Amino acid sequence: MSLTVDQKPLLEIKRLTKHFPVKNPIGLTEATVKAVNDVSLHLYEGETYGLVGESGCGKSTMGRTILRLTEPTDGKALFNGTDIFQLSSKQLQKMRQDLQMVFQDPYSSLNPRKRIGDIIEEPMIIHKLGSKKERIERVMDILQKVGLQPEAYYRYPHEFSGGQRQRIGLARALVVNPKLIICDEPVSALDVSIQSQIINLLEDIQEEFNLSYLFIAHDLSVVRHISDRIGVMYLGKMMEEAPTDLLFAAPSHPYTQALLSAIPLPNPAIKQERITLRGEIPSPMNPPSGCIFHTRCPFVMDVCKKELPATKEITDGHFVACHLH
Ligand code: SF4
Repeated sequence: MSLTVDQKPLLEIKRLTKHFPVKNPIGLTEATVKAVNDVSLHLYEGETYGLVGESGCGKSTMGRTILRLTEPTDGKALFNGTDIFQLSSKQLQKMRQDLQMVFQDPYSSLNPRKRIGDIIEEPMIIHKLGSKKERIERVMDILQKVGLQPEAYYRYPHEFSGGQRQRIGLARALVVNPKLIICDEPVSALDVSIQSQIINLLEDIQEEFNLSYLFIAHDLSVVRHISDRIGVMYLGKMMEEAPTDLLFAAPSHPYTQALLSAIPLPNPAIKQERITLRGEIPSPMNPPSGCIFHTRCPFVMDVCKKELPATKEITDGHFVACHLH
């Protein structure tokens, strides 16, 4: 994807924070889960931004908070310059036509008692789009675009495989002609061969529908193929962000280096040294002081335990939060 000079971001997340209170049996807050802490990113029209990190790093909470499926604790989410977090419920409902989400498990988000045609038509009814006849034509058109037969219209979710159900989830998002789709682990539950089919489909429809994607995944090798830029999160914070080629050619944060070293190389004859991280991910209720990665980092220094590293731009568009830089 090539950017024009002065192109404004379609989506701009500024210092997003999301904390969840943990209540005791009598309803008093006894701890706080710091799921997302002060994370900023931006996404241009037509771009795919891959957001990666281990399970529990806050990336899915980011996606859900941007859409206000859960309310933010702090920060801004500007979509075409309008702060999503300041919208009334009526304004938000209107904006959701432009902002859609595709979930990891489409089956749980597809009503088992409804026919596929009705499921895909529903967002158009909510947004008051078209007559009944126009809506049916649109559903038929979208079914074909996502690679499903017209007969799928009359069938029920349980009659489809995981990959087909993800196509249905995508059709339901596409039917209202959105500008941005947040894809939350859309292929993690699928077999590897099906994963590539869904990723290819996402790429094919991106240009036709002029879509932007925020693509959330725990697997760097999955986001590599689809993303223009990648952000790496750990324990609710952004560790590194770079254009995809640069991130793979010159990973600069020790956490990114460890994630990359775990990806098997296509040529088994080439030896690759795997970086093994010490211990478990700390609890987001009690994150480490200073650099939150210091309890597992192979390069930890004294300063890391006390001071939060600032995010620095080390080369054009390549940002790293680490005292080594
Ligand atoms: Fe490791 Fe220190 Fe860099 Fe954190 S700041 S990643 S602990 S070297």
